[in-house]
This record gives sequence, structure tokens and C-alpha cells, in this order.
Amino acid sequence: MASTATHSSGPRQQFISVDEARQRILDHFVALPPRRLPLLEALGLVLAESVWAHEPVPPFTNSAMDGYAVRAADTVGASPDRPLTLRVIGEAPAGGARPRPHSPNAGNLAVQPGTAVRIMTGAVLPPGADAVVRFEETDEADTENLRGRRETVTIRRAVLPGENVRPAGEDIPSGSLVLQAGTVLGPAHLGILAALGHTWVLVHPRPHVAILATGDEIVPPDRPLEPGQIRNTNSIVLAALVSQTGGIPHLIGIASDQDSDLERHFHLARDADLILTSGGVSQGDYDRVKEFLRRRGRFEIWQVRIKPGKPMAFGFIDETPVIALPGNPVASVVAFLQFARPALLRLLGRSELEPLRVRATLTQRVDNRGQRRHFVRAQVEAQNGRLFVTPVPNQGSGVLTGLARGNSLAVIPEEWSEAPAGSEVEVELYDMATAAALLAALH
Ligand code: AMP
Ligand code: MG
Repeated sequence: MASTATHSSGPRQQFISVDEARQRILDHFVALPPRRLPLLEALGLVLAESVWAHEPVPPFTNSAMDGYAVRAADTVGASPDRPLTLRVIGEAPAGGARPRPHSPNAGNLAVQPGTAVRIMTGAVLPPGADAVVRFEETDEADTENLRGRRETVTIRRAVLPGENVRPAGEDIPSGSLVLQAGTVLGPAHLGILAALGHTWVLVHPRPHVAILATGDEIVPPDRPLEPGQIRNTNSIVLAALVSQTGGIPHLIGIASDQDSDLERHFHLARDADLILTSGGVSQGDYDRVKEFLRRRGRFEIWQVRIKPGKPMAFGFIDETPVIALPGNPVASVVAFLQFARPALLRLLGRSELEPLRVRATLTQRVDNRGQRRHFVRAQVEAQNGRLFVTPVPNQGSGVLTGLARGNSLAVIPEEWSEAPAGSEVEVELYDMATAAALLAALH
């Protein structure tokens, strides 16, 4: 590996660790400025302000059951063998401010000793009542949709004060802090905001990520191949990774290795929050992207101690950050996961930038000469409560099928010249379905 230093083209080329490269990139990223978005557009985004309740949820004390609103004291001693009878003075459907009295001149209805109000789930608990007896514990037990006015009800169970009642503010007391800034908004968080009357929410928006393929040999997938040409796979894979991470990908095409074409494409990407390029940054004679970036912007060109991958550049074209990923399809994915993914998560305002990691036993020896951190495309599985990880057969840095057959990346540290079969290694998981399957298999 030390030999690459002798091939290094130019004084600014540096040989650095994965961690250092990641840190040098992350140093330039903070969360995007907050924007107010409709609730449903905020799913999965990070809340940019703390939210306090300006009112209680539920807003009023209400019944948790269909039944009869009563004074608990009136039910003392009631049982199936010794039922007692209360006079029904009205009905409380959900949605009304107060119960409907049976007698027209009743005025404001209150539950007095010896009386009850027939009540539906979610209806305001009438004044005087402090508990609800479910239909199942009255003589309405077996009647479905019983209609018509009832004069009395038979109660077959004693209830305690507060039973089957939801007090105002039970879910969210007025004035309380409900959501902390930094919360990643899930369905329930959006529901809480809706419960408090919010239809918009202040979040860090999704970053717009421009994706540019480079190389004279690269053509769009819908074009017949001429000799020497290959289809642009990197852009589609990178765009999918951007979406999966929470960004909005913009495919801005394929630039040839000519400066003017590169300039034209970077111009198309000028409004992006981040530009990802692939190809053109390694040691070949026509890897001109590197030279272009060096002249055109403020760039650091690196050799990273990573396998697959290694050549990379990071810098700015005007004010827009650019992460230049290697051209080999698998290398560009691994580099995306190690360098671009955490940058994107930072733009999204996320505090957790690391992937999910598990430890697993390697089932085969893996070679790792060259002091690079080796990300081995692998299949991790649970067996008898333990995790095992097996490299996929073809580890070529251009072999996408290898990546597709694996479900994870096993990490061989740069200090290890080999990882023997049976050794314990860290495994990075980027896909929730795999994580869920492993969890299920471990139980
Ligand atoms: P480079 O880094 O430009 O030397 O490219 C390394 C290898 O990756 C070459 O075999 C390229 O043809 C291939 N490659 C570069 N860009 C792409 C792309 N967008 N899609 C598929 N393969 C690519
Ligand atoms: Mg090239």
C-alpha cells in the first residue's frame, strides 16, 4: 500500500484513514436551516423546535367506554347476585357539549344520587358523575344497538371513582413539553402534533443531492452499447441510497472527462445541498475529474485506507459541497455508506450518524493485506442464538451482484492482515429488513 504514495499525483494527495476522511467531511456539515412543512411531509424528519402543549389532550374528561355515567358511591355493593337500579335521566353521545336530558325541563343535567346518564365512548362526562359502568355490566349486556329511551338501568358491578373515565390532560397535560427538538418524527409524533392543532411543523428539510456520473465510457441505461461503453449504474444506485437515507436525489446526467462538460454539469447542480460524483478520481491517465476539481474549487484529494475504494476527493464548487466517489460500482456504494451517508444524516439534523452494528463470527478466512479497512460484502445470519457472517463469493469492486447477494458489510480492521475463520468481527447493517430478520431469528 505504501507503494501508492509513489504514484500520488500532486502534492495535495493524502493518504488517510476512513475515520479521518469521514471527520474531515463531517466538519463541513451542519443541519439544513429549518423549514415549516405540512405534517405528512415531515415523517422521518428531525424536529427543529421543542413543542409545548398549549391545551390538554384529551381536552375534556370523557368516557373510555360505552355504558352509564354514574356516581361511584351509588354502585357500592352492586354484584351480579345483588344488582341495583338507577334512574336514567339522559343520554351523552360523543360530540355534544352536554348530555341530552330525557325530561325537557331538566335544565343543565347533572348526575344526582340514584341517577345515571347513558354515555358513549368519547362523550363529555356529565357533571356529578365520576365513573362509568360498561354496558356489559348492566342489563344491556346482551342487547346490541339497543334503541329507545330507557327509564332505568340495572347495575351489576360496583365501580371505583375514575373507573372507565379519561381525565382531561391524561395524555398530555396543558403546559407540558411534549416533543423535544431533535426528535425524529414518526407517525405517533405527527399524531401528537395534530392532537394539539398543528398542521405544519418546523423541521430540518430533506437535502437535495445532485448525482453526477463521469467518464467517456459511461452511457445512460436506455442507450444501446457501442464497443467500449458501459451503462451508468452508479447514478441509479447512489440515487437509491440517497432516497433511503432521507435525501432527494437529482440525476444530472453523465459528464465526459472534458472540463467544459464537467463545468456544464456542475452548473446544473449549483442549487443542490450536496453533489455526489462518481469516477475520474483514481490514478488513470484519463481520470481528469480530479484535476478539474483541483483547479475549479477548493478540494482535498485523498487516498483513503479503505477497501474497496481508496481514491476520493472532497471540497466545494462555489459554495456547494462535493463528495467525489470512486467509479467502481461497489467501491462507490461502500464510499457512499462510509462518507456521504453520515454527511446526509447531518444535513437532516440527525444526531446518530452511525449504522447499526452487530458482532458476528466469521465463517471463512478473509485476507486483508495493505493496511486498509476492508468492508467485506457479506451475509449475516443467526443460528442457535448466535450471529455468523459469511463473505459473498465474488468480492470484486465492480461486482454489484456480490453486493446484492449480501445483506451487510463485515469490517476487517486495517491493522489485521487477515481475519481467520472463527474470529469475531463487526458487521454493519444498512437495511432494517435484515436487522428485523436477525432480531426475530435470535428469539
Ligand atoms: P474510474 O474511477 O473513473 O477509473 O472508474 C473505475 C471503474 O468504474 C471503471 O471501470 C469505470 O468504467 C467504472 N465506472 C465509472 N463510473 C461508472 C458508472 N457511473 N457506472 C458504472 N461503472 C462506472
Ligand atoms: Mg474513468
